[in-house]
Amino acid sequence: MTSHNVGELTAQFPLLNELIELKEISWFNPSVTSLEKALPYVGLDSEDIRDASMRLKRFAPYLSKVFPETASLKGMIESELVDIPDMQKRVEAEAGCSIPGRLMLKKDSHLPISGSIKARGGIYEVLAHAEKLALAAGLLSIEDDYSKLAGDDFKQFFSQYSIAVGSTGNLGLSIGIMSAKLGFSVSVHMSADARDWKKQMLRAHGVNVVEYEQDYSVAVEQGRKEAEKDPNCFFIDDENSKTLFLGYSVAGERLKAQLDQLGIAVDEEHPLFVYLPCGVGGGPGGVAFGLKMALGDHVHCIFAEPTHSPCMLLGVHTGLHDEIAVQDIGIDNVTTADGLAVGRASGFVGRAMERLLDGYYTISDESMLRYLWELNDAEGILLEPSALAGMLGPQTVIRGSDYLQRFGLSPSVMNNATHIIWATGGGMVPESEMQKYLNASL
Ligand SMILES: *Cc1c(COP(=O)(O)O)cnc(C)c1O
Repeated sequence: MTSHNVGELTAQFPLLNELIELKEISWFNPSVTSLEKALPYVGLDSEDIRDASMRLKRFAPYLSKVFPETASLKGMIESELVDIPDMQKRVEAEAGCSIPGRLMLKKDSHLPISGSIKARGGIYEVLAHAEKLALAAGLLSIEDDYSKLAGDDFKQFFSQYSIAVGSTGNLGLSIGIMSAKLGFSVSVHMSADARDWKKQMLRAHGVNVVEYEQDYSVAVEQGRKEAEKDPNCFFIDDENSKTLFLGYSVAGERLKAQLDQLGIAVDEEHPLFVYLPCGVGGGPGGVAFGLKMALGDHVHCIFAEPTHSPCMLLGVHTGLHDEIAVQDIGIDNVTTADGLAVGRASGFVGRAMERLLDGYYTISDESMLRYLWELNDAEGILLEPSALAGMLGPQTVIRGSDYLQRFGLSPSVMNNATHIIWATGGGMVPESEMQKYLNASL
């Protein structure tokens, strides 16, 4: 990797000084443009999303059978979208400004199977791989009822193959649980941030958990190396995978259907703001891509990162993408938001999405923990710290007067806005762990 002269970088990008001081900052993207102009740079289109969506439909009967908690939605892995009016009042009181419009929470935290946003992309990529193997072996055709995949003959077949992944925790949970259920032999390479309960849960599912004392990038690298030694091993590459990205992107059409059902319009007079916690970028990037494709130019996507791990903001702002890590400018990548503890962003996502994301901001661990406590107190909803990163978003937007002006978002238009905090995880956190999070904010 190239080395960086911090003095030269800060001279060229003064915002980095505040990043280095670990301040909560925001940056609205001057290069954001219309979907029409930006799409060629993404390299994926609506056909790709449709393909992913159809694949998930084919697998629905299987999922419904092997994960009974998905049966009520007929094997569709989807979460609720709910209003959080009492939290809106708390946020306004704390911010000292009003948040015009409607504040909502997208509860990916409570997605079935693995309790986080990773139940979208992670599970999808395992399914895509399993389908490919079974089709190639002549054991399956796409017209079949996929519930047959639950049979012992398929488990036997998949047991010849292995899957590996590097993770800070939640991706490992999704991929580990799904792969083990199908019958694959699976290894999850866990970074130092990964919580012990996640490792224990995976081991209970028969997953091989490999632990590292270093951060996420090292866990991914080691996982990749391990997998390269074995031709029957498939490595799920969180830093570069288009398949993962497309699994996440299906959320766009799903959210559109939920908004339609609630009678919430998204157009020039009714903007939608979506606040997405960002780690390596695949989850929020894929969701944002799907949202743009489903809802168009009046959905505004904003990424949120911990002050200690602002890898995407750093990569996009400097244009260096995955050629720079937060550690290169003296930031430690140590945060209680373990799902976001990533020092180097995905170069694929940063480049693909740089014209489609309105802005980026950072949030301190203290703020995430405070919001964690407040959300439970106000609404009785418990999330993990990472999932609260979006909560600072609405006030960040309201205060971004240049940004609002640039998009013609006048006060009267903002009165019609919908703000969605994407709650990315927490549904499977054990009670004792949750109590620690709640106590930490007091
Ligand atoms: C993984 C994760 C994210 C971010 O997803 P990336 O693909 O790493 O950007 C956000 N929140 C939680 C809880 C996560 O586990």
